[in-house]
Amino acid sequence: MKTVSILGATGSVGVSTLDVIERHVDQFSVVALTTNQNIDLLYDQCIKFRPKLAVVANVEHADKFIAKFKGESYMPELASGQDGLKLAASMAEVDCVMAAIVGAAGLPATLAAAAAGKHIMLANKEALVMSGDLLMSLAKQNNSQLLPIDSEHNAVFQCLPVGNDTCEIEKIILTASGGPFLTKTLAEFENITPEEACAHPNWDMGKKISVDSATMMNKGLELIEACKLFNVNVKDIEIVIHPQSIIHSLVAYPDGSMLAHMAYPDMRVPIAHALAWPKRISSGVDVLSLTEIGALEFSKPDYDRFPCLKLAYDAMDAQQSATTVLNAANEIAVDSFLKEKIRFTDISLVIDATLQDIEHVVVDELDVILEKDQQARIFACSFIRDSLTRH
Ligand code: NAD
Ligand code: MG
Repeated sequence: MKTVSILGATGSVGVSTLDVIERHVDQFSVVALTTNQNIDLLYDQCIKFRPKLAVVANVEHADKFIAKFKGESYMPELASGQDGLKLAASMAEVDCVMAAIVGAAGLPATLAAAAAGKHIMLANKEALVMSGDLLMSLAKQNNSQLLPIDSEHNAVFQCLPVGNDTCEIEKIILTASGGPFLTKTLAEFENITPEEACAHPNWDMGKKISVDSATMMNKGLELIEACKLFNVNVKDIEIVIHPQSIIHSLVAYPDGSMLAHMAYPDMRVPIAHALAWPKRISSGVDVLSLTEIGALEFSKPDYDRFPCLKLAYDAMDAQQSATTVLNAANEIAVDSFLKEKIRFTDISLVIDATLQDIEHVVVDELDVILEKDQQARIFACSFIRDSLTRH
């Protein structure tokens, strides 16, 4: 029996994780579940999976959550705030941690899981973009196995040689759907609404990653994620647009071979892979029907219409702190776009201005990373207020 803690249980990845676990209750037991403030769903999940610990990160909702258990014979232990998340990530009873909180908020708990030597299923790509070097070295020091959940990175992981030795590969090819605006002209970009940006053609995901997919910053974050996870240089990674999202990524070898991972676009595929690794279990997703799919297309990315992708390359060329700044500015810009304070096309302007304003330094400590993250957030907010605000 593997024991699992799910950080961000009420989100899109969290819900898919519980869907896979429910199919294999003889193999997995849920020890801890966390949410920010979706206490209704967390309550339903607790009643079904009976974890020992439930964490409501937003303290203001904790009392209301506990009140829901009135009259029940079962009640989980409750924790809240960042300390609660860290507890869920590191408690002795847990073997595997699904890191599926969105954004920088997931970093401290992901680091705690690595420090505790847990087997980490990593969906929270922002943690790697913010502090990849630190997270990877902490995981190595503590024998914490990192299994990528992001579909592209999970695909690469599956196509790499045994032991993940990247010395003998030619390059990694990350595929990108291109998002909902792949064929829109630049002139049409200005008036894109949050609703349009969140309607991804192939994937059903949380709002933040949906907007990232629409700007293609998601692929930029994934480029950085791949460099950190697989210890490769940017020049060894190619990004290819593949609108059908059937090939999730590829690895090319010097002999001319290319290995691809193919599946329907459903996060339960990489989640089931990581949960059962090195074994295989069913995920609830059918094997592809190639004859139904018929044709697959590939093209080069367009950096003029998707400047966020270019900004990610720029940040990767600079120091680690530049990717921390990129991530923080992007989180602020996406949030402001979702709240209709700025336009879709302003997102890249906020990130560009923030990257230019903040001095980039070598980072080897969490304190420095958190300081850069804060500086970037403060600058991005003031830039939005002073230069961009629509109302
Ligand atoms: P989501 O918005 O659906 O869910 C986010 C989860 O994090 C929720 O449980 C929420 O309660 C929790 N959360 C949010 N803010 C928090 C805070 N401040 N403190 C504590 N908890 C907080 O997001 P998602 O789509 O499930 O994505 C989760 C992560 O997985 C992201 O990093 C995303 O980039 C990555 N990812 C998602 C997908 C996907 O298909 N959804 C695919 C690849 C990678
Ligand atoms: Mg992805």
